[in-house]
Amino acid sequence: MSDRVPTFRIATIPGDGVGREVVDAGRAVLDEAARLTGGAFALDWQELPWGSAYYGETGRMMPEDGLEVLKGFDAVYFGAVGWPGVPDHVSLWGLRLAICQGFDQWANVRPVRFHPGVTSPLRKADDTELDWVVVRENSEGEYAGLGGRNLSARTGGEVAVQSSLFTEVGCERIMRFAFDLARTRTTKKVTSVTKSNAQQYGMVLWDDVFRRVAGDYPDVETESVLVDAMAARFVLSPENLSVVVASNLNADILSDLGSALAGSLGLAASANLNPERRYPSMFEPVHGSAPDIAGTGVANPIGAILSGALMLDHLGQPAAAEAVRTAVDAVTASGTLPRDLGGTATTADVTAATVAALGETL
Ligand code: ATP
Ligand code: MG
Repeated sequence: MSDRVPTFRIATIPGDGVGREVVDAGRAVLDEAARLTGGAFALDWQELPWGSAYYGETGRMMPEDGLEVLKGFDAVYFGAVGWPGVPDHVSLWGLRLAICQGFDQWANVRPVRFHPGVTSPLRKADDTELDWVVVRENSEGEYAGLGGRNLSARTGGEVAVQSSLFTEVGCERIMRFAFDLARTRTTKKVTSVTKSNAQQYGMVLWDDVFRRVAGDYPDVETESVLVDAMAARFVLSPENLSVVVASNLNADILSDLGSALAGSLGLAASANLNPERRYPSMFEPVHGSAPDIAGTGVANPIGAILSGALMLDHLGQPAAAEAVRTAVDAVTASGTLPRDLGGTATTADVTAATVAALGETL
């Protein structure tokens, strides 16, 4: 290998539960992709033992200078966070959201599509197609962390306020991101999802900005749909969607629904992007730590592997990224399916099959 090979430094944070198993699977596949490109690029992994076990020892989910440590990397490859005994909001805010917010990863990209050989609860006929990208506003909205809890003298019990924050700048940048993404796709369409009939400040600002930004993209079809109607539409008529842009909470819920419709939460990949590239971006499966199956070797690694493909795209290696997706498709098409997809293949079986299939595509 010549020393001119671009080497990307990747921080891996397996985190909790099945995070460990699926991150190892993803690393094995990505290393094989790098090897098969014959020196086009290399990956230099460094693992960071942060998460709920670390919290048990130190009282923190990651070190105080954790963001400083991560700054030196080209990307972060993340497993999952959350474990019984650590309150969910502590583990989430202490690690995952600390990184997303600290590195201004304001665009969360979650592709949803059918996979060959995988039965979807939606697939009505063999020719039904489903291919969306949910673009989630990832820096403000309902997860802005604004509010508080107090004892109320008036009611005699506690009162809590949880506010959403919507800024014109925040709305505009996620919408431009969605429109730019739509332009790269076969179906050039952006569907904006809100609840602006009931939430008359933030969501109406969102709608106003959407209309204004749409004016700059006359070649992209647009529509606005209320989130309750959208949930029904995902199930009843999933055709005719391409890019779906929504606020933090709405897109979180819709993308979980989307991945279930594709066959399983275990398939779903995501990228938390800092599009300006001032800070590292983070790539992680949509699923959580799955304590019910952790350590049993049956976790579906595909969401993590496909998140690795999104990372390769981000690192400027689209051929390797596409090869990983093609290999995953070959594996599911061949019937090597993990338990959540109705099969009997273990995490290790799916990983080995994907590594082998890569040899056929690269
Ligand atoms: P979080 O709060 O982090 O989203 P959660 O408890 O809501 O976590 P998951 O940890 O994703 O959700 O688990 C939800 C269900 O999906 C569980 O039954 C789990 O076993 C299953 N599941 C999650 N990830 C996988 C996977 N990779 N393979 C197989 N099953 C999975
Ligand atoms: Mg969840």
